[in-house]
Amino acid sequence: MNVYDSGRMGDVLGACGYVPTDDAGDADMVILNTCHIRAKAAEKLYSELGRFRILKDARMAAGKRTLIAVAGCVAQAEGEEIMNRAPYVDIVLGPQTYHRLPQLIARAELRAAANDMAPAGGILDIEFPPESKFDHLPDVAPTSVSAFLTIQEGCDKFCTFCVVPYTRGAEYSRPVADIVDEARRLAAGGVREITLLGQNVNAYRDTDAVAGLGALIRALADIDGLARIRYTTSHPIDMDDHLIAAHGDVSQLMPFLHLPVQSGSDAVLARMNRRHRIADYRDVVDRLVRARPDLKLSSDFIVGFPGESDKDFGATLALASEFGFIQAYSFKYSPRPGTPAAAMADQVPDAVKAERLAALQDILNASQRAFNKASEGRVMTVLFDRAGRKPGQLVGRSPYMQPVHAMAPDSLMGWVADVAITEAHANSLGGELVGGTAGAANQSAAGEIQRRISA
Ligand code: SAH
Ligand code: SF4
Repeated sequence: MNVYDSGRMGDVLGACGYVPTDDAGDADMVILNTCHIRAKAAEKLYSELGRFRILKDARMAAGKRTLIAVAGCVAQAEGEEIMNRAPYVDIVLGPQTYHRLPQLIARAELRAAANDMAPAGGILDIEFPPESKFDHLPDVAPTSVSAFLTIQEGCDKFCTFCVVPYTRGAEYSRPVADIVDEARRLAAGGVREITLLGQNVNAYRDTDAVAGLGALIRALADIDGLARIRYTTSHPIDMDDHLIAAHGDVSQLMPFLHLPVQSGSDAVLARMNRRHRIADYRDVVDRLVRARPDLKLSSDFIVGFPGESDKDFGATLALASEFGFIQAYSFKYSPRPGTPAAAMADQVPDAVKAERLAALQDILNASQRAFNKASEGRVMTVLFDRAGRKPGQLVGRSPYMQPVHAMAPDSLMGWVADVAITEAHANSLGGELVGGTAGAANQSAAGEIQRRISA
């Protein structure tokens, strides 16, 4: 979601005359968009800020002003602290106020000018405003054949380990009409794949029509040119019958689902306030696979949650083996200030967390490798989205998000083509275009899509 938010901040800044640069030394403004989900992510901010302070000073010595802004969930949670620790930061803004960037920048520039380019103290905007930022953002500008689209934000579930309900705020769903409009705009601009985003994406409810994610996906499937639809991140308890049925009926919905389980132990799930048991998870997966037999799963795991015993962790290992996730993210539990789990007794020592994480990742990596290996000899549809390292090579994604390399003409960029998989690596696949490159070369519409995106 931070990638989506950064893109939207770019859209806002574009309307003010800013253009992106790869060279920070060239930037009149730097925005650090931050994540607060684990301590490690949050800590990165202060080391990055130190780097940009040096840059700001060097540019100031050359008579150039640089505005530094901190956005995102660290800004939301630690706004005051950032301003105290890094007084050279000009703007601190939360994830729900970035539509106000033009006004914030204007105020920051006035202050900077008044203070001879070295303003004392920044401007803080970490409100949860009553209006939705989505009603104030300029039109989305597509930059790739695969795009994110936020449909839902915030969370009311309050898992005991998680900061999201505090940093992103209460659950909010965008109206279906606005989402369809943004998706049409993306498709018209050459986007072929949309990933619908939400912290709790399948809790999506259009307030007027009382339609859920299943109905939204069916509406999006009617958009011309949209070849692939995905969504993330789902909570197992919000996987309703309509959504499961959409997996069977909507061919554009890819057969790959991120469905975090966090732990294999019912006792740990209860202390996490996940509101389901492992049997419920198994039941949801069974129903999904019945609707879409080629569906594969990825998941998230937390090891070393307070009170997690060897037996609890053993249940997590067993679950990982049972479900054969084809991809997974696994983390050591990170106590987050203000969340209930941070204050629980029986915190697990870091050495035990590290040991458990390594053991779990052995299983998860092995099942990812096994799935990649089993892809050899199969024909997979690939959406080509970038040039490969070798001349004449393109890289795209399989339905299961595996990166696939193949020799293919540039005209296939932004196009879905059949690829026979010939080799599997740990994190990617190699293959050959079915029917060879010549037959594919006349699909000139794809070239047109690519031109529009580059433009
Ligand atoms: N809404 C999603 C999760 C969003 S947070 C869900 O309910 O599944 C993304 C992932 O970060 C979580 O699935 C969890 O595995 C991890 N995570 C969140 N808080 C964490 C913490 N305090 N320590 C370690 N991992 C955490
Ligand atoms: Fe965090 Fe997801 Fe739980 Fe919400 S459902 S509190 S986002 S882990």
